[in-house]
Amino acid sequence: MPEEQIPVSPLTQSTPPDAAQPSCWVWVAVATPAHSSVSEPLSYLSPSALAPGTLVRVPLGRREVLGVVWDGPEGEVAPGLPQGVKARSIAGVLEGVTPLDARWRRLVAFTARYYQRALGEVALAALPPQLRDLTPEQMARRLKRKAGHSATDAARQIDAAAAAPLELTPQQREATDRIEADAGPFLLYGATGSGKTEVYLHAVQHALARNPHAQALVMVPEINLTPQLEQRFRARFAPLYGEEAVVSMHSGMTPAQRLKSWLAAHTGQARIVLGTRMAVFASLPHLALIVVDEEHDASYKQQEGARYSARDLAIWRGREHDAKVILGSATPSLESWHASRPPSKDDPQGGRYRRLDMPSRVGAAELPRVRIVDMGQQPRGAVFSPPLLQAITERVERGEQCLVLLNRRGFAPVLHCKECGWKSDCPHCSAHQVFHKIDRTLRCHHCGFTQRVPHACPGCGNVDIAPIGRGTEQLEEQLAALLRNVITPERRAARVARIDADTTKAKGALQEQLALVHSGEIDVLVGTQMIAKGHDFRRITLVAAVQPDGALFSSDFRAPERLFALLMQAAGRAGRDASYIAAQGGNTPEMWLQTWHPEHTLYAALRRHDFPRFAADQLQERADAGLPPFAYQALVRADARTQEAAQAFLHAVSEAARAAQLPGLEHVFLFPPVPMAVQRVANVERAQMLIESTHRGALQHFLAAWQSVLHAARSDHKAVIRWLVDVDPQAI
Ligand code: ADP
Ligand code: ZN
Ligand code: ZN
Repeated sequence: MPEEQIPVSPLTQSTPPDAAQPSCWVWVAVATPAHSSVSEPLSYLSPSALAPGTLVRVPLGRREVLGVVWDGPEGEVAPGLPQGVKARSIAGVLEGVTPLDARWRRLVAFTARYYQRALGEVALAALPPQLRDLTPEQMARRLKRKAGHSATDAARQIDAAAAAPLELTPQQREATDRIEADAGPFLLYGATGSGKTEVYLHAVQHALARNPHAQALVMVPEINLTPQLEQRFRARFAPLYGEEAVVSMHSGMTPAQRLKSWLAAHTGQARIVLGTRMAVFASLPHLALIVVDEEHDASYKQQEGARYSARDLAIWRGREHDAKVILGSATPSLESWHASRPPSKDDPQGGRYRRLDMPSRVGAAELPRVRIVDMGQQPRGAVFSPPLLQAITERVERGEQCLVLLNRRGFAPVLHCKECGWKSDCPHCSAHQVFHKIDRTLRCHHCGFTQRVPHACPGCGNVDIAPIGRGTEQLEEQLAALLRNVITPERRAARVARIDADTTKAKGALQEQLALVHSGEIDVLVGTQMIAKGHDFRRITLVAAVQPDGALFSSDFRAPERLFALLMQAAGRAGRDASYIAAQGGNTPEMWLQTWHPEHTLYAALRRHDFPRFAADQLQERADAGLPPFAYQALVRADARTQEAAQAFLHAVSEAARAAQLPGLEHVFLFPPVPMAVQRVANVERAQMLIESTHRGALQHFLAAWQSVLHAARSDHKAVIRWLVDVDPQAI
């Protein structure tokens, strides 16, 4: 990046304040060790006053760490150091970096408060990791250094066609007009293939054109899954604002790249930040617009540390910055759907969000016809029912592509001995080890423990141990066998390939495999949810979910919502290109479902692509049962060597909460502790306890007051390895 755009100022060397030098107190947020009860900024001496938001290096214990100068506790002019604690001086200031602004600090403070974590932990986790390791001297050098070539692979392949704005369809026009006219937040409810990306691009373009400093944040669930989106944003905006104006932020980048993007956003040089959930914490002083694409996606919820929802924080941040927020999805989360309900007679206010409808696909493209196969009527044991196999064969023979979805990787979820009943259980978890045939291993998907497949049953020596159930590996193998005599129009044998977490471990592997699909070298793609999301495939005309029933009877109340979204998204990959369909003779694209429950209401709604119906039914059930979004939840989890110890801790803290009559308690319901669904992982027993309230505020009060109880209880429960609070948990 051009160095003149970054304010570099001479470095203040760290001078320990001596008696002669006037010193002042500063509060500094530092990342304190997990489970220390320090949640407030610490006080240090500094030779000069430092603005809140300044990055500093400070001593902490025997280490020197990065900290952020923080606003002092309200009303307090001098810090109260515990007796006997000697004040320490800051070690240095990262002068080249302008202080983080008040809005960023408020976002961090809110996140820490709402998700029940220490402020310093959240503040430091919100900064790029490399910042933690740089001394002021290194930082100054880093800022001065001429940046190398920065274009990513994605950027190099800018295609001219993508650079020009498309002429909007009437429904895209209406959506963009309303985004212009209203304040939002918006829920862009657009069918798969309705052209939501073009609406985002327009909104970004408007925001950036209106103000020469304006910045836009565009979040996607997993950037590796949506390389096309990144390409389209680069293609559109790099020519207008320069290659440096578009930066990415996600965990697949090197620490140096992440720091570079972060600095570009912080200095205002980057106008558009494309990123995953972590990007919600980017320092964006001129933030004017936030887009959350596929807002229903579970990956917006962080699953460790502060378990924040980047989607919910986006809404909060938008309000702070007066920035417009657009949440987009074909299958919105029921929370967002409910929050965007239109006003009605009984509910004249309606929800807080504005719902923008884009029901139809771009051009003449139709949503696929949903075909439901009753597995009760099919030959026993068939993985692919004869009509589905026939349909796939016909598509491939015409040169069209198919996509087969199974949300379970590996060859089979378990190996079993019929003689003695042995099963391939993981020795460290309450879960089976999955059979991976390709490298003849048994692998635990929870703790990673891997073994060679035994030659004979470890229980009785029987050599005939057999897989039960199936995963994507097996589907790929079976389908390749079933289609071995099928010939494509290019007069070659049909090709089957698989995309899942196992085939895409190597960097760039997913992109390579997707490229093979796009170039038509693969006829049938087998995979997990990875292939169902977001991709703009042009030649896929048939999608099949071969075993979707599992989630119908899950104990997690969100399971139907997730299944519906997954199937709708998968269906959304078929028949996206109307001109291709027409050129192929106009055969309607299809979504096949193999099920033992063909009458299930979820499938009935899916058949009509009727998300509103499905959502209304689900919301009614949730309202009746007092579940989110009509109630607010938090989970407390305890991990210990034994299940008894984990539960005893949870019992103790809920008893203590009752005994202390904690604030908010009268509106909060504490459920009894229970083992988690997968109770033991890596030899650690896990228990959890649900806390529920119809008042968000009361729940927040209660949780805040409870923190000290939880911290204190830990010392009485030495067997507890860790505990954590998950506010608005996504999986129960
Ligand atoms: P969604 O995200 O809603 O599933 P996309 O944004 O991927 O849909 O758009 C689907 C396809 O339609 C893409 O190939 C895109 O280039 C194309 N498209 C979008 N808007 C238009 C338009 N106004 N005119 C022509 N093609 C469009
Ligand atoms: Zn046996
Ligand atoms: Zn395991």
